[in-house]
Amino acid sequence: MKLLIIEDEIKTGAYLKQGLSEAGFIVDLAQNGLDGQHLAMTEDYDLVILDVMLPDLDGWRLLQSLRGAGRLVPVLFLTARDSVDDRVKGLELGADDYLVKPFAFAELLARVRTLLRRGTTPTTEQILQIADLELDLTRRRVSRGGKRITLTAKEFALLELMIRRQGEVLPRSLIASQVWDMNFDSDTNIIDVAIRRLRAKIDDAFSVKLIRTIRGMGYTIDDGDAT
Ligand code: CA
Repeated sequence: MKLLIIEDEIKTGAYLKQGLSEAGFIVDLAQNGLDGQHLAMTEDYDLVILDVMLPDLDGWRLLQSLRGAGRLVPVLFLTARDSVDDRVKGLELGADDYLVKPFAFAELLARVRTLLRRGTTPTTEQILQIADLELDLTRRRVSRGGKRITLTAKEFALLELMIRRQGEVLPRSLIASQVWDMNFDSDTNIIDVAIRRLRAKIDDAFSVKLIRTIRGMGYTIDDGDAT
């Protein structure tokens, strides 16, 4: 795992670099905004630790330029000012987490590990597929046979669950708890309605139907291959 620290305070930068190297990470350190921006744009990092107050290019502008260029690397920003405005601003600009200085190294390490586990870096895992249907988890896009399909957030979550567990029969109660975070009430037909809408979007126009109803049991998504 390769990390980039962008921090102009010499002592803090050195301390972070040493601590994170000892924790097993490969660590680059940039001591001003422009060097940091250059590295973040040209190298592949798993995480960037970004100080807000930097000479020549501050952390806000640096973060904005990274996101503007489509760089999705997770960013943990460090702010000296414990102001709610700062934190909100950072998160709005696309930071993933923040720490207020001074902080304990153990806390930084815990945050770093959490962000790395969450893994917003695109990998092959970020695209789920069944037959000619593709779900791009990073861009929140769905297409079938190369044709773009627009889904609501709930339809997307429902389809994601079904593809992750393709071939399994999913009872309505499981779908309700996973997608709607609620207990299934057999009086409601919310699941059936959602499935019908999803079918209209991903199956109706295609000869091979992927979603199947298993009477009395639930729903499954299946590409029809007997494997
Ligand atoms: Ca600073």
